[in-house]
Amino acid sequence: MLFRSQLVSGVAHELNNPLTSIAGLSEFLLERKDLRASDREHLRVVHEQAARAGLIVQNLLTFARKETPEAAGVDLNTVVERTALLVAYDLRLRGIDLDQKLSTEEITVKGNRYELQQVLLNLLTNATHAISRQHADAPRRITVETLRDGAQAVLRVRDTGTGVPQQLVSKLFTPFFTTKDPGEGTGLGLSISYGIVESHGGKLSYAPGPGGGAEFTVSLPFLAPGEEEQAVQLPGLEGLPRGKAGRSILVVDADRAVHRTAVALFGMAGHRGVSVLTGEEALPLAQEGEYDLVLADFRAALNGGGLVAHLLAAPPGR
Ligand code: ADP
Repeated sequence: MLFRSQLVSGVAHELNNPLTSIAGLSEFLLERKDLRASDREHLRVVHEQAARAGLIVQNLLTFARKETPEAAGVDLNTVVERTALLVAYDLRLRGIDLDQKLSTEEITVKGNRYELQQVLLNLLTNATHAISRQHADAPRRITVETLRDGAQAVLRVRDTGTGVPQQLVSKLFTPFFTTKDPGEGTGLGLSISYGIVESHGGKLSYAPGPGGGAEFTVSLPFLAPGEEEQAVQLPGLEGLPRGKAGRSILVVDADRAVHRTAVALFGMAGHRGVSVLTGEEALPLAQEGEYDLVLADFRAALNGGGLVAHLLAAPPGR
């Protein structure tokens, strides 16, 4: 089992950079005004499919890792708002409305925001698929709700899709259970989500929705008073020096495709990206140049007394 999960996470890691490059560079090209309409459509498909493959890779990584979440306060309303941004384009394209009914009360739980975002993303993706299988003039709505239910914080996703046939309900959270065509579903979304919610001390459950669609409910314990202080606080960006024309960004990564993508995307946003392969190359540049941000891969940043340790010992501009 250990071997299998190592293999899965190894393959998933290897796929991550190429997929990010395909998604990033196709996004960059989509910004060009001089594309022919048919080429733009092809490119949009390339971008969409790379993003989809990326999501599968992320799912596999979480499945293989089974990490325990760090103890930080996560506001469920923020989780909803951020995840909604990720799916907004796809939903608009498919003519699906996203109705957000967010609690006006504080709705903070203890957990890992990225994992909780992934749970919601999985639920929204499934809801989108279920609605897309309905005939065209059926209602097309997903409702996401956050609320307090006694001692539990609740996140609920309801859709106007097909619902789950009674005889399949008991199989829903089983790994690799899917009713989708090969290539359409991995059958991992709900089992991973179940595992994530469970590792947060919560529950993920299914019930038929009021209008015949599906209703998934995540219940999580609230963040206990006093626990908030354990949250990891990252320093703000306000104090950073500004570059003259946009920001200057140093990218350190062993993969040249990552450089190309990062520099293209930063350029698109009006910043200047410079990229090098190793921490050794990056150190003199980071110490002498005026960079607003140094973005380094894990190996360059931390391994063998890496870039982070050197930069902390001798910060730039001293
Ligand atoms: P996948 O989406 O890759 O098939 P999941 O574990 O996310 O894997 O879902 C397993 C199955 O549960 C789906 O194939 C589908 O049959 C069913 N399902 C999940 N969510 C919904 C939903 N919102 N409406 C109807 N069926 C659903």
